[in-house]
Amino acid sequence: MLKNTDIEIITSIKTLLATSKKKLVIIPHENPDGDAIGSALGLGQVLADFGHEVKVLSANDYPVFLKWFSSDVPVIIYDKDKKKAKSWLNQADAMICVDFNEAKRAGKLEKKILEFGHKKVLIDHHPYPTQFCDFMVSETSYSSTAELVFDVLEATGLNENLSQKAAEALYTGILTDTGGFSHNISKNTFKVVSGLLNYEINTDKIQSSVFHNYSADRMKLLGYCLNEKMQVFPEYRAAVISISKEELKRFNFQPGDTEGFVNYPLSIKNIVFSALFIEKDGYVKASFRSKGNFPANKFSSSHFNGGGHLNAAGGESELNFEKTLLKFTQLLPEYKHQLLETTI
Ligand code: 5GP
Ligand code: MN
Repeated sequence: MLKNTDIEIITSIKTLLATSKKKLVIIPHENPDGDAIGSALGLGQVLADFGHEVKVLSANDYPVFLKWFSSDVPVIIYDKDKKKAKSWLNQADAMICVDFNEAKRAGKLEKKILEFGHKKVLIDHHPYPTQFCDFMVSETSYSSTAELVFDVLEATGLNENLSQKAAEALYTGILTDTGGFSHNISKNTFKVVSGLLNYEINTDKIQSSVFHNYSADRMKLLGYCLNEKMQVFPEYRAAVISISKEELKRFNFQPGDTEGFVNYPLSIKNIVFSALFIEKDGYVKASFRSKGNFPANKFSSSHFNGGGHLNAAGGESELNFEKTLLKFTQLLPEYKHQLLETTI
């Protein structure tokens, strides 16, 4: 159910991607998550099986729990291999951006996207997109970009090339963006999942690869954060976890280790807003999660230079670690009314 996408857009995408063989570059957002990587590899696999030459290009590296896919589409990490990345960008006949709504979200690839001289396609489910691609498929009712990719493949007839490898990647995108089918799900989500199960993917293996693939250090860091770093403000129905660079080092931090931490406080009875602050080099990364109608994305764009979905957003702070945490706690009284009124 592509509600916002005109038939002309689908026809244009069909002409671009389902006729002559091309060289294609697929770009996920910076710090790609399961949906960004799953959508890129799933779509990439289908397009490669159609006969295109496809490479996924990511601004930076992604966690090991997303490095087990059976897809054989190559992934270039711009941070690690600029030469290869630039060469492919020069050769590519078309670009497809997945799982982000403005060029800036692709980090160091922002300029490369804006300067790219051929047709650009967007497939995304984030609200408030900017018009940075020629053909925009922006559908905010979808749980995940992966769910949306499935429907775009169907609408363009490219689904003829769907395979087990592609289905596995798309399923992973849906699984991770819905927190294991626990939020943002719709009738269509399960319809798509049902469609993906036709390809005999091993869902138990996917579950283990994504969620049971942590190091012992990561579990200890989680325990430490919940035990010693979580502050709960029942009077505001909010909670926050903050992690300094020193603490990350102490627990031998690897990329992806803090994935999901921000969700834990929402399991506390009556808590509807959760924040996670992580000290990075020169800035603090912020993550926000909410329940019901409390807009995590508006909170993030108003105070932390970010955005995202209603219930899952992120941003950054240029203040130091301590001041960032203080800023957050000092903002809570301003939102007291809204937080207390939040319904699920
Ligand atoms: P996370 O907290 O997992 O990093 O991100 C949650 C959601 O917020 C994702 O949908 C992601 O795309 C979005 N998001 C994360 N960081 C930023 C940011 O710095 N700016 C914007 N606009 N969105 C972000
Ligand atoms: Mn997504």
